[in-house]
Amino acid sequence: MNVPLLDLTDQNRSIEPELIDTFKRVLRSNQFILGPEVEAFEQTIADFSSVSYGIGVSSGSDALILALMSLGIGQGDEVICPAFTFFATAGAISRVGATPVFVDVCPVCFNIETNSIREAISNKTKAIIPVHLFGQMAEMDEVGKIAKKYNLAIIEDGAQSLGAKYRDNPTGSYGTFGTYSFFPSKNLGGFGDGGMVVTNDEELASKAKILRNHGAEPKYYHQYIGGNFRLDPLQAALLSVKTPKYKEYVQARKNNAQFYINNLLEVEGVEQAKPEHCGCFDQQTEESRHAKLILPVEYQHCDHIWNQFTLRVIGKNKREELREHLSKKGIGAEIYYPVTMDQQECFQGPNLSRVPSVPKVAHQLAKEVLSIPIYPDLTDEMKSYVVESITEFIYS
Ligand SMILES: *Cc1c(COP(=O)(O)O)cnc(C)c1O
Repeated sequence: MNVPLLDLTDQNRSIEPELIDTFKRVLRSNQFILGPEVEAFEQTIADFSSVSYGIGVSSGSDALILALMSLGIGQGDEVICPAFTFFATAGAISRVGATPVFVDVCPVCFNIETNSIREAISNKTKAIIPVHLFGQMAEMDEVGKIAKKYNLAIIEDGAQSLGAKYRDNPTGSYGTFGTYSFFPSKNLGGFGDGGMVVTNDEELASKAKILRNHGAEPKYYHQYIGGNFRLDPLQAALLSVKTPKYKEYVQARKNNAQFYINNLLEVEGVEQAKPEHCGCFDQQTEESRHAKLILPVEYQHCDHIWNQFTLRVIGKNKREELREHLSKKGIGAEIYYPVTMDQQECFQGPNLSRVPSVPKVAHQLAKEVLSIPIYPDLTDEMKSYVVESITEFIYS
């Protein structure tokens, strides 16, 4: 059997007639830059985030850059982000001329470890970018408290967590800004690149809109040096075909995650942390040090949207061996992410980044993590086959 890591064939086929009609509509509208298609989609994503403003942009990476630019963050400023994330989070900070400060993460939820944030703050710190990795939100109560105390902006990197919740509040509703990506592998995947910035702040929203369009307002009168960060109306319109089905897509991922958890927990050597809270380090129980495989967990106070189902494979080279085993069985698996930000070549050297203390957990995770197929259209047979194949590996 073949179980790819991600396959959108069925998802797209089921809406193909609507997508084609939408393409025709945009084609015949003759509006190919911004306009009503983009505005309608912006409103939908703002609503998903329980905030007032959405600004459609060219990618999730540009969304981060635009949020930082709108806050006036640049040369001489520091921005704190987790060492364990996709490169764009850190890259955006450098791209605006600021210095990324890398901190450690929680071994249970993979998200930014809040005590490390406190230790990383300096008089140059301007913002924190918590990343809601793999579809579960970071410990936003704590992040919020720290931001308030030190007067820092929060940019939620929600590229992997559109619609995820923390204590009933959605991604994007906590931060000064929230950012999204519609890269095809995200839960709301487009047909090419796309992104969004959301905020509740009217002034910042209007500044972001101006910066998205070369900083011009009115046209040809440039208040700021912005860029071309615009989302295409065609992309916005096509994505709008998927938004009414978004809950369904997420529910299917949740069902898949529950299936994996129920079945894999039956296997000896497979463990899962308790779902109470992001206790971070103290949640690593004595038993889990003897585990062969640790499952991801959805905290009780969170609503996880499962963009990835990420295992921790314990033991030297075991992760590579499991990946190889799955590959031989026709099952796709990927390492998100093999190299932490503080270890990236481009951040080595004075002033390129700051690392207040070695992010040990992040380094450990980079050696252990393996994400397995979780996309909505997986069949029961496929999921069973994945479970069987993993079980076979653990008993071998
Ligand atoms: C995908 C992703 C991004 C970047 O989004 P693009 O649309 O690919 O530019 C940023 N941060 C995280 C955490 C991501 O997963």
